[in-house]
Amino acid sequence: MPNLSFVSPTRNSPWGTYLSQIDAVEPYLGHLSKWVETLRRPKRALIVDIPIEMDNGTVAHFEGYRVQHSLTRGPGKGGVRYHPDVTLEEVMALSAWMTIKNAAVNLPYGGAKGGIRLDPALLSMKELEKVTRRYTSEIGIIIGPQQDIPAPDVNTNGKIMAWMMDTYSMNTGATATGVVTGKPIELGGSLGRVAATGRGVFVVGREAMRRLNINMEGARIAVQGFGNVGSIAAKLFAANGAKIVAVQDHTGTLVNSNGFDMADLLDHVAKTRGIAGFKGGDMIANEDFWDVKSDVLIPAALEGQITADRAKRISTRLVLEGANGPTTPDGEAVLADRGIVVVPDVIANAGGVTVSYFEWVQDFSSFFWTEDEINLRLDKIMIGAFKHIWETGEQHRIPLRTAAFTVACTRVLQAREERGLYP
Ligand code: GLU
Repeated sequence: MPNLSFVSPTRNSPWGTYLSQIDAVEPYLGHLSKWVETLRRPKRALIVDIPIEMDNGTVAHFEGYRVQHSLTRGPGKGGVRYHPDVTLEEVMALSAWMTIKNAAVNLPYGGAKGGIRLDPALLSMKELEKVTRRYTSEIGIIIGPQQDIPAPDVNTNGKIMAWMMDTYSMNTGATATGVVTGKPIELGGSLGRVAATGRGVFVVGREAMRRLNINMEGARIAVQGFGNVGSIAAKLFAANGAKIVAVQDHTGTLVNSNGFDMADLLDHVAKTRGIAGFKGGDMIANEDFWDVKSDVLIPAALEGQITADRAKRISTRLVLEGANGPTTPDGEAVLADRGIVVVPDVIANAGGVTVSYFEWVQDFSSFFWTEDEINLRLDKIMIGAFKHIWETGEQHRIPLRTAAFTVACTRVLQAREERGLYP
């Protein structure tokens, strides 16, 4: 592990996972490996204190971060996460994966990510708004439509983006719609953005299934995480003939070997905010999720889920990473030994940031596209990027993750070399 003094990664922690992915790609970078050390450290990391007055009159302090891993290919880009487990190390890894993701699908961005260490379920709407506004002010010194553009991630949404856009605009004295993406449509948001990540997971999954000769009709799909990514991906797979046989969220794990009625399940989740209590399936213990037989497994929750132990139990043909960093290096080695193909996060879940890019372009030109135009352009980018990565994998006989990193890191380091070192 390189000696960055401010984090202590372990082999399977998020930053440790990212570093091992960079080690794996290094032999495929040719003369550009001269610059690879650039990727093993973030360009800039900001830690901010967020004090707010709570509804009961006390003052609470929250810790927030914005990390810009790379600005080599363009402004920083990446979401903001609200979660009690957020740490600097995690945000560093997430920002680095944004650098790779943006380059893998060839968006003109570097990579960044933000987060606040808090449990949003414990805050009132007013408190959440105060935290968001103070955080935005604190990171205001490094974000901006041309500098770094935040977006939604775990536990953040259009409402929070609206507060961020408003706060930044108030501080700079002009309405700056392009400072964040994932905004409500009324504030310069894009049609198709909410569904984009799930849609991208489906489109890339369908392409991977074709390559592996997995028939969509009747394919068994297991989904971990039923938020914005997992639920929309599951809905699209079901609408195209697949069966959703297992779903896990923060309220429990449900199975149905005949496949859930997705309309009923989505309706239940909209009403009760979780899958628990749904009558169209059986609840099982959370850990038993990893034993359910499937053709495609979609981890769409948090990092570090597919450990070596779980990888030994998983019975599937294809892992489609809807979440960022769900597979640890040890888990990945077991899956590879067992011949299970992994479509990595940096391509599988790149649909969200791709439509974020469309939103940013629409904001700059103040000219808005139809949903059909957006979906057509999204599908075209995702299918093209997947094909390029698949062929790179075949050419070098390397796993798809290393292939995606080869494509992405080559783009980043080529730009690095052409820009040169300053001064
Ligand atoms: N949070 C999403 C991701 O991990 C989207 C980021 C964005 O749209 O900038 O890719």
